[in-house]
Amino acid sequence: MKALVYHGPGIRSYDEKPMPILKDSTDAIVRVTKTTICGTDLHIMKGDVPTVTDGRILGHEGVGIIEQIGGNVLNFQIGDHVLISCISSCGRCANCKKGMYSHCENGGGWILGNLIDGTQAEYVRIPFADNSLHAIPAEADEETLVMLSDILPTGFECGVLNGQIKPGDTVAVIGAGPIGLAVLLTAQFYSPAAIIMVDNDSNRLDVAKRFGATQVIHNDLGNAAEKIMALTNNRGVDVAVEAIGIPSSFDICQEIVTAGGHIANVGVHGKPVQLNLDKLWSHNITLRTGLVDTFTTPMLLKTVMSGKLQPQQLITHHFTMDEVMQAYDTFGDAMKEEALKVIISNKIMSEKVKSAPTALGRTILEQEAFKEELLVNDSPGG
Ligand code: ZN
Ligand code: ZN
Repeated sequence: MKALVYHGPGIRSYDEKPMPILKDSTDAIVRVTKTTICGTDLHIMKGDVPTVTDGRILGHEGVGIIEQIGGNVLNFQIGDHVLISCISSCGRCANCKKGMYSHCENGGGWILGNLIDGTQAEYVRIPFADNSLHAIPAEADEETLVMLSDILPTGFECGVLNGQIKPGDTVAVIGAGPIGLAVLLTAQFYSPAAIIMVDNDSNRLDVAKRFGATQVIHNDLGNAAEKIMALTNNRGVDVAVEAIGIPSSFDICQEIVTAGGHIANVGVHGKPVQLNLDKLWSHNITLRTGLVDTFTTPMLLKTVMSGKLQPQQLITHHFTMDEVMQAYDTFGDAMKEEALKVIISNKIMSEKVKSAPTALGRTILEQEAFKEELLVNDSPGG
């Protein structure tokens, strides 16, 4: 099969790799129908994630069809349409029992496209399939659900829930990339009074306005903190969400958090940051960090199915798997390309899926053809 393979910092290629095989009785082999590239993959390409070694297939997001299952997979069958969680988890260890799946003690956590081969391939082995896959409802849109593998649960759990956003709050999100925008979308479940988005990219700020930001701040002069203090009559914000992962954006959060407020860190940090306890010690603030646990994925799936949450708005570009190298170039130059999330599709459909009728009365293959027609008429990227 073909896959996107990491060969050390700055080096990737589209290689022929052996098909994955079942290793444990709780594994499933999933034929990936759609996947995407994450900001984390770009961090890996820069060499920021030393656990990823030469020869690793990247990717931790996607949807697909189960091709094989181990003897102890109880919740799924061959042919099931599934959403792949970015976090694999046994569901049985002490941390999993607390819902802290990212720290699964039996070898789970963020392992896909990191410690084991990932989803930017035709097939992927999913460990602990019962707990690491979610069944996809028949009428669901696959592309939309790719947003549920990582960015929506990450934005919601690490930004909104850890920030304890409440009705009437003033919220600032530093960083309007896909994760910052996922925070913006899911923060609105709680009706905050104001959501201020900060970024250096005008296009992303325009998108943020469309997604419900009440104010946007272009941080061109690095004075976003001053501007936020001015906007809030020097009161500051109840919740400051760090969604980039660099010291300067964490500093903004420390400057703008009001007394009794929360800082929620979502960004992946590669360097230490300074914690200004000389100012914050008396301010009754709460600082939360965390890797996504994906315990909210079933809830988010329901909000997507009901139409309350529309994460498909984040998709800007479409590629096929044989164009995955180009997809990386586009996503890697996101500002110029105006890219948010890219969808990468594997074209070949299995016989079973081809003939499975959807809720709309079309077979899935017909639906794919129909969507491709739509794409020709309404080209992505805008
Ligand atoms: Zn990701
Ligand atoms: Zn576990």
